[in-house]
Formats: sequence, C-alpha cells, structure tokens
Amino acid sequence: NEKYVMIPGPTPVVEPIQNAMGRKTAAFKDPEFVADFESVLADLKKLWKTDGEVFVVPGSGTLAMEMSVSNTLKSGDKVLIISHGYFGDRFVEIAERKNYDYKVLSAEWGTGIAPEKIREELSRDNYRGVIATHVDTSTGVKAPIEEIGRIVQNESDAVFIVDGVCATAAEKEYVDPMNIDILFTGSQKAFGVPPGLALIWAGPRAMKRRNKLGEINEYYGDFEKWLPIMHDPSNYFGTPAVNLIWALKASLSLIKKEGLESRFSRHERDARAIQAALETMGFEILAEKGWRAHTLSNVLYPEGINDEEFRDTLREEGAVVAGGLGDYAGKLFRLGHMGNIDEHVITSVLQAIERTLYRCGKDVDFGAGMKTYMQEKYS
Ligand code: PMP
Repeated sequence: NEKYVMIPGPTPVVEPIQNAMGRKTAAFKDPEFVADFESVLADLKKLWKTDGEVFVVPGSGTLAMEMSVSNTLKSGDKVLIISHGYFGDRFVEIAERKNYDYKVLSAEWGTGIAPEKIREELSRDNYRGVIATHVDTSTGVKAPIEEIGRIVQNESDAVFIVDGVCATAAEKEYVDPMNIDILFTGSQKAFGVPPGLALIWAGPRAMKRRNKLGEINEYYGDFEKWLPIMHDPSNYFGTPAVNLIWALKASLSLIKKEGLESRFSRHERDARAIQAALETMGFEILAEKGWRAHTLSNVLYPEGINDEEFRDTLREEGAVVAGGLGDYAGKLFRLGHMGNIDEHVITSVLQAIERTLYRCGKDVDFGAGMKTYMQEKYS
C-alpha cells in the first residue's frame, strides 16, 4: 500500500512534478527544453532575489557544498564554520581536505550559536569566509541567517555561505537582501522534486571572488565551466538532467502560484502545530524553543519506546520517517514536513503516529494530539 514519505528528503513528489519527471526525454538542445531551462533559471534568480548568478547542476546537496567553497575560497584562507549538527560538521571535513585555516563554532545538539558569539569571533580575526547551515537536518535547529548575514556584512570581508539544503523554498531566505553570497540546496527537499539536482545561487560578491581565484582545481564543480550554460542553456558543458529540470519547472510553477512568502508562512504555521501536537502525544522536540526549524522535527521518544519497533510499526500504519543521527541514533525519529504537503497528509501522519504509539504499548488518548494541532493551527 501507498506510504507517505515523511523523511527529511526526498519529500513527497506531487502529481504535476511526477508527471513532468515522467515525460519523454528530449534532446538537451531541443528549443522547447532550452526555453524551459531558461525560465527555471530566471525564476530562481528573481524569486530568491539576486543580481548574481544561479547554477542548476546534476548532483546532490553535497556537490553544492563543495562547489560553494571551491569557487570562493582557496587553500590557507581563514574560514569560520558555524555548526549545529552533522551537516555543519561535514563542512569541517571539507575544510580539512581543502586546507582552509578554519575555526569551528560548535553548538550542543538542540541549540545554536548566538549571533553575538559570531560577531566576537569576526572581530578577532580576518576571516575570508563564514559558513552556516540554515537548518541542520540532524538536529532540527535553525540558525538566524538574516542576523548573521548582517554581522558578516558589517564586521568582515568574508563571503557568507549558507547551506539551505533543509531550508530553501520553506524557510525565509533571500540572497542579496540577506547579504548571503552563496546559497545552495538540493532538489529533493523543500522543492519537492526527486533527488538529483544541486541548486546554487552566487551573489555578485561571490562571482567576483571566483574571478579572482583564476583556474581552480575543480573541473566539474567550476562555476566558470557552467556559466556559459546558465547564461544560454543551448551551450554544452555537462549534460543537463532534462527530466529533473522539467520537474523543477513544475515545482516552481506551484511555488509561484502559492507565493514564496505564503509558502514560508505555511511552513511556519504547520511546524508550530505539528510540534505542539507531538508534545501533547508525549514526545519532546530536540530543538529548543526559539531555535526550531519549520521544515522538520527531530522527535525524542518517551520512555519505553524502541526506535526500530516504532518506525517499523509506523511504516505499517502508512508513514515512513527517518532515524536519528550521531548520538541520537535510536533516541529520536526525524519527521520531515517541508515541500508540497498539505493538511490532509499532515493529519493522516499525526494519526498514524498515535496508532503507532498505541501498538507500541502506550496508553493513548486518541485525538488529543489532533485537538492540539487544530487549536494551534486555527487559534
Ligand atoms: N546539508 C544539509 C543541511 C542536509 O540536510 C543534507 C542532506 N540531508 C546535505 C547538506 C547533503 O545533501 P545530499 O544528501 O543531497 O548530498
């Protein structure tokens, strides 16, 4: 039977996007496809507000992580990494390989780094780059990106690189207005497109940096190699993922119809109601209040619940969720609630969670979570 895919990516793919994906593949120089690719690039730039460039490249979010630094930083550069989870720490591994002179501000899982600490650190040293994860998928913690952007802009000459993989198209983000130099995501998260595309916005300052670096070691990951395609998709460098770009076009048309601002507030409202409902059911949310993401919840089990049994039973009840990462493996489940999901999906999944708790031996007050959900959502 059909199951809701409620892991934090890939997220549910709705019919118009699935249909675009399933179209008969065209030649990448087909004028109709070239026009579609052009419209995707123009929409991405306009909606996320940059006078810089946008790159849509076959690959996953990790490729985008690597490209974002390789095109703006060089070996020996001072880099500040702001980490509140597993994916922030992944940047440490990348920085290690690329020989950056890096420092990490690391938060305990469940909380973030106060902007004041970032300001202090920037006044201490001459950083060339600041990297922050908007929402870390391992913790469900969201960084105050707008505030950090202002600090980086006012207190340093660093480029500000934002990992939006678990945020972009759900959490409020605009590139130039928020002083973000590079923003990136993967297609499989809040865009609700199947996995396979890396999306990277590079503002004017980031492009200037790229230019100053001259020839870089990366070949596939070089902005300059891709730029001619992004300016005119009838050019060739690497074969574009034709069907995924069509799927992204379908996703963008849903986003335009909804309106980006309304999409941001829908995610906020849903997250608040879902998190409150889960607390009523006896779970705890890992992220502290004030640091909570709108895109997913990392949900700590009450006493006596076994992770494997819970997730296997929930799958039987119709929803697939992800397990915890790092020290939280076995202690929590991760519920994605981003992209193209509606109230029908959310309420079905919340009820599936209640049934699962019952089957795992808890004394469940059926409907209590739903009541909280409705009260939060419609108060
Ligand atoms: N950053 C964040 C915040 C993520 O959540 C993920 C994937 N879950 C990545 C980077 C890496 O993306 P991918 O798995 O698509 O390579």
